[in-house]
Amino acid sequence: MTGNGETNGAPDERRLEESLEDLYEHAPCGYISTLPDGTFIKVNQTFLDWTGYSREELLAVKRLQDVLTIGGQIFYETHYAPLLDMQGFANEISFDVFCRDRRRMPILLNTVQQRDPAGNPLLNRTIVLSARDRRQYERELQQARKKAEEALDLRNQFLSLAAHELKTPLTSIMGHIELFQRRTGKEHSLNERDERALRTIAEQAQRLNKMIASLLDISRIETGQLAVEQVPIDLCALVNQVVDEVQSTLAGRQIELLCPIQPLIIQGDELRLRQVFQNLIQNALKYSHPDVSIAVAIRQEQAEALIEVRDRGIGIPQTAVPQLFNRFYRADNVDQENVSGLGIGLYVVKEIVELHSGSVTVTSTEGEGSTFTVCLPLDSTLPF
Ligand code: ADP
Repeated sequence: MTGNGETNGAPDERRLEESLEDLYEHAPCGYISTLPDGTFIKVNQTFLDWTGYSREELLAVKRLQDVLTIGGQIFYETHYAPLLDMQGFANEISFDVFCRDRRRMPILLNTVQQRDPAGNPLLNRTIVLSARDRRQYERELQQARKKAEEALDLRNQFLSLAAHELKTPLTSIMGHIELFQRRTGKEHSLNERDERALRTIAEQAQRLNKMIASLLDISRIETGQLAVEQVPIDLCALVNQVVDEVQSTLAGRQIELLCPIQPLIIQGDELRLRQVFQNLIQNALKYSHPDVSIAVAIRQEQAEALIEVRDRGIGIPQTAVPQLFNRFYRADNVDQENVSGLGIGLYVVKEIVELHSGSVTVTSTEGEGSTFTVCLPLDSTLPF
């Protein structure tokens, strides 16, 4: 005889039989057997302990539906019983049981129906699981989700409020700078150093203005309020204008432009599309050496217009590419180059392009340069 109750490796059958009975009665789940009409014919001790009923109060006296809440009784008749009739089993059905002291206990039922050879139901065997922990867990999960959503809402509200509040005084500052510049320009009343200082103030105010506009865009995207107009636009003319505008602010920096002569018409939002190309061109300039030109090319491919913005700058590490269009994301190599930014531009670019049913992609080699390609559907009402 060994210490674990086996003789010559054979199990002690008496102990095994006893433990089977014990397992049924005191299993960590309830067992109930019912007739097809729901009448209890066998229950284990665990179910009795959980609910407070005695065997005599249930067996042949009550039906399973009698100990369920009203809602549960309806669900029993409309879903659970028909499901058993139809497929012979039902899994993870959620009910609330009324215990003997009228406490409600959340449970989950797994039932298998026994049938005679002719297919008539004989009895239902059911495992009852306590769902208290699961419901508690689900409730906590829901609460955590609600809290996270509230925090997100609050952050969006703050973002939008802060951006609006910052915009008002800045607009006034910019207006006054412009007036001052115009007046002093006419009167030639500033010396060169003061004029330079005024120009720097104007440039920095512009920069601040752009940052605030980006924050407002983020808040619009997050609250689903970023909308685009749908009017016919000639992309060639629009990109030409943007290139000209950016070029006019650059001293000795070249933007090469390759553009078809015939117009490429799309349905879109002029201001928002300008923003897209300004952003991509500014990035190409920002992330490449001032001595090296950048290139913008437009072409038609079947029913789409493709706009490429190419630079021979610092490039993007391969690991960063999949995250590049995420909000606030900046690749590691920009720190080494000491180029400032918020990591918002490409996020907004992608949103705008997608609102035009288009796409934006990037190919890049670190240290060699990047090409951003915007693809937009041409106006389908016009012949291509
Ligand atoms: P920001 O330029 O303000 O950081 P963006 O959203 O415009 O924000 O760009 C996100 C990131 O993508 C940048 O921080 C940079 O890492 C990378 N990136 C964008 N354009 C280029 C480019 N032309 N060359 C190299 N990296 C780029």
